[in-house]
Amino acid sequence: MAQQITLIGGGLVGALLAQQLAGRGFKVAVFEKRPDPRIAGFVGGRSINLALAERGLHALRQAGLADDVLQRAVMMRGRMVHTRDGRSGLQRYGVDDSEVIWSVSRGALNMLLLDAAEAAGVRFHFGQSLVSADFPAGRIRLADEAGTKREIDAPIVIGADGAGSALRAAMNRHAPLGERIEALGHAYKELEIPPAGILSADLIDRSGGHDQFALEPHALHIWPRGGYMCIALPNTEGSFTVTLFLPAQGAHPSFSTVADAAAARAFFAEDFPDLLPLIPDFENDYDGHPVGTLSTLYLDHWHLEGRALLVGDAAHAIVPFHGQGMNCGFEDTVVLASLLAEAPSDTADVFAEFQRIRQPNSNAIAAMALENYVEMRDSVADPHFLAKRELGLLLAERAPQHFMARYRMVTFTHLPYAYAFERGRAQDTLLEQLLHGSVNAREVNLDAAVAALRATLPPLPEHG
Ligand code: FAD
Repeated sequence: MAQQITLIGGGLVGALLAQQLAGRGFKVAVFEKRPDPRIAGFVGGRSINLALAERGLHALRQAGLADDVLQRAVMMRGRMVHTRDGRSGLQRYGVDDSEVIWSVSRGALNMLLLDAAEAAGVRFHFGQSLVSADFPAGRIRLADEAGTKREIDAPIVIGADGAGSALRAAMNRHAPLGERIEALGHAYKELEIPPAGILSADLIDRSGGHDQFALEPHALHIWPRGGYMCIALPNTEGSFTVTLFLPAQGAHPSFSTVADAAAARAFFAEDFPDLLPLIPDFENDYDGHPVGTLSTLYLDHWHLEGRALLVGDAAHAIVPFHGQGMNCGFEDTVVLASLLAEAPSDTADVFAEFQRIRQPNSNAIAAMALENYVEMRDSVADPHFLAKRELGLLLAERAPQHFMARYRMVTFTHLPYAYAFERGRAQDTLLEQLLHGSVNAREVNLDAAVAALRATLPPLPEHG
């Protein structure tokens, strides 16, 4: 008889994992707190998007869904950096259009994954929240939207219920997981640039010939301002989702000093004067949209014997500055589905092995995501950073077997995150030594630099 697996959470990771497990012969039931978004509409109803990169795409290819997803995505070739004086310039992510990331709608992607999982035989139960679990008895307690509770058998339960995971809380009550949640101290708010047709003509001269969009659509836009920033990602219908990142509290600017739309308008007029006119519904967006908090979650244990396991944000929520949270969770699904397919009845070993493989990698991407905040909000406009970036590009061109920018390793390869982290550190040390504090990469003797690189670092592993 098919092995039965109960999943908590039918978000991005839960829905993809469910489809992968059903496709490998498991009998999968998913309990999701929210109503079915295909019927009720996606919560919030706003266009919220995410950057999909190679790791996530790889998982979607395994699931046979990559083409469908890419048809609904907008290609982003690089960072379009908008400086204070109103200039903008594209910093490409990769060498050409084979190395790009994709802006996808969270709601549309979730619905596509739900359809695919259902087609694979998964049974979804919407409007059902996990409340508690009795692990030794193999039972879980659920509540529906009216608060009515019931208990069901769930001998093997996997939590894909996000950063605030109820399964994690239940596991923690049974046996401490060593949970640490480190708040970033910065928070975010989403605003919207509508399609160009809604804006007056004089505002839309920067769309590079794409009439529908108010800004160049094939880029992730950043307005770096030192301790804070705005970013904007394109949506297929011509709008952009803007996210403002600011310190949560403290001296100006922070969400406590930019507390309402009136204060925010004055702040944007000063700091983001070119962005403000592109957000015609500024007052409603600012006062109507919540402030989201940002934290990193670390756990000592992701599993409870062979009975319960955490995946995705439930196990390793990270800050969003590398655009890798979902990508990392999707990579989890590939590893877990293949381990479970190899040893379906040996969940104790499989869950332990899953943690052994994935945890060093989730720790590495957590650290890189934190570092990337500083890079995005500050260094992308810093001359020394730009010189390092340029020297890195020159070395990658001259010695591609020995040098690859860390961002490329994370975003466009399947090299383990932990490898990218370590290698990136070693490469950075070398770049610092070669530059000697200079802000001009062209001053470095490239032949000597390539020789030093080859002498210091082994060739990169296969990374296709
Ligand atoms: P979630 O998406 O949180 O899904 C959890 C699901 O579980 C939800 O459907 C929820 O309703 C359900 N649930 C919760 N509690 C219960 C319960 N008690 N019972 C039953 N169901 C429950 N990642 C990227 O890769 N690229 C990006 O560009 C990117 N940008 C981001 C920007 C921001 C501002 C933020 C905050 C995150 C971003 N991320 C990005 C991270 C990404 O959103 C997460 O990593 C991803 O959503 C994790 O998916 P998940 O399925 O594990 O959790």
